[in-house]
Amino acid sequence: MNGEAPAPAPADGRRGGARVRSRVEIPLHLADGSWQTAHVITFDGLTDGLEHIAVSYTRHPAVPLVRVHSECLTGDVLGSGRCDCGPQLDESLQRVAEEGGILLYLRQEGQGRRDVSLYDKLDAYSVQDRGRGIAAAGHGLRVADDARDYHAAAQMLRALGVGRVRLLTSNPDKVRQLSWYGIAVEERLDFAGRSA
Ligand SMILES: [Zn+2]
Repeated sequence: MNGEAPAPAPADGRRGGARVRSRVEIPLHLADGSWQTAHVITFDGLTDGLEHIAVSYTRHPAVPLVRVHSECLTGDVLGSGRCDCGPQLDESLQRVAEEGGILLYLRQEGQGRRDVSLYDKLDAYSVQDRGRGIAAAGHGLRVADDARDYHAAAQMLRALGVGRVRLLTSNPDKVRQLSWYGIAVEERLDFAGRSA
């Protein structure tokens, strides 16, 4: 409803209880081999107290492309073949760079669930490999939709002056939650998917 997303967000984002803490330029090496300089933004006042960051490009359209990515160390950093987080992060950063959007990187393992740690995930892989993890798939963890919380993501967007987004996600719950927290999801986009 409140609309125009300003290009570089001012450091005044007190609405929603969080605000921009700092921003620093970092050149990022993208999947297509090019370099793009992004603003990496930190926040004060996030509801869960974790050190989430936004990767943002200065020329936001009024309704920017947004990706909310939950940390997956094995996928993001090591290129694990047990989940698709690595390719999704690569594609997200590429598309966000091309369109001038925003990637929110949530520093939490377990698809947004705070009480699932990296060790929990690795333990679940181990259980899965011993043939006892029937419900386990993907991350090796089955996370109920209602266990995920994207409140901090909504806070970060508001702090950046963004109230309307085009969301890159295959997860309908993410759309519902962001809407619940006051972010208008005007379009949902799927991954092109290098493997699918
Ligand atoms: Zn993963």
